[in-house]
Amino acid sequence: MKIHHLNCGTDCPFGGHLMDGRSKGPLARLVCHCLLIETPGSGLVLIDTGYGMKDVRRPHPRTSRLMHGLLNIRFREEETALRQVEALGYRARDVRHIVLTHLDFDHAGGLEDFPEAQVHLTRAELEAARRLDGGVASRKRYRPMQFDAVRSWREYEASAGEGWFGFEAVRDMEGLPPEILLIPLKGHTWGHAGVAVQGSDGWLLHAGDAYFHRDEVRRPERRCTPGLRLYQNLMEVDRASRLANQQRLRDLSLDASAGVRMICAHDVVEYERCAAGAPLV
Ligand SMILES: [Zn+2]
Repeated sequence: MKIHHLNCGTDCPFGGHLMDGRSKGPLARLVCHCLLIETPGSGLVLIDTGYGMKDVRRPHPRTSRLMHGLLNIRFREEETALRQVEALGYRARDVRHIVLTHLDFDHAGGLEDFPEAQVHLTRAELEAARRLDGGVASRKRYRPMQFDAVRSWREYEASAGEGWFGFEAVRDMEGLPPEILLIPLKGHTWGHAGVAVQGSDGWLLHAGDAYFHRDEVRRPERRCTPGLRLYQNLMEVDRASRLANQQRLRDLSLDASAGVRMICAHDVVEYERCAAGAPLV
């Protein structure tokens, strides 16, 4: 299975290096790191969708003005998953499956650009997004206009069966190859999950928003910029679960025998290294 790393959205919030740990000027750079997987029997599989064509054409009310301003989102047509799929020589209908880490506005924006895809996620996430019962934060993050036209949901609960490196896992998702697993990682949202993909050179875990900064994993002690620390605190629904899951991910990232490469959704350095085929450390 060939894995493409796509950036399907760019945010340039104020804060510079206090946010991304790298920028020299007043603006930081965050990406929406998605994966496009060419599978032998299941067509193209997209992991998360970033911002979509409709978000680019008319950002409001599909995204909230508060989040648009806070993140200083740069909507660009050429960064949508659809345009990048087309640039690789495929059509929208070649994307037969989308696996979502969660339904936040910066992950679900491109869903409706692939109307024939089945959309896989945890049941807890779909229920939380439909309930919108988390007050203001819930209504800013979940934007029903982005996903209410999805025709084909596939919802899962983690079984107590065979896990994955000590994590609960959803295996054998409908129509997907067995090398793609959903790994529930509650905390950022109620149904947040990572997506593990087994390639020819080992496992890649897309950890979604379970962490935000490259130095929160691959080192024994957590290091995170103050800006991203604040953002994670603002957006969490369950701090204890979030921090516990992040610690488990850190432990896994340091376990050389597991050999799991780990990425999150928004770190620009991780994205650039993956896109260049470079090691993550
Ligand atoms: Zn996000």
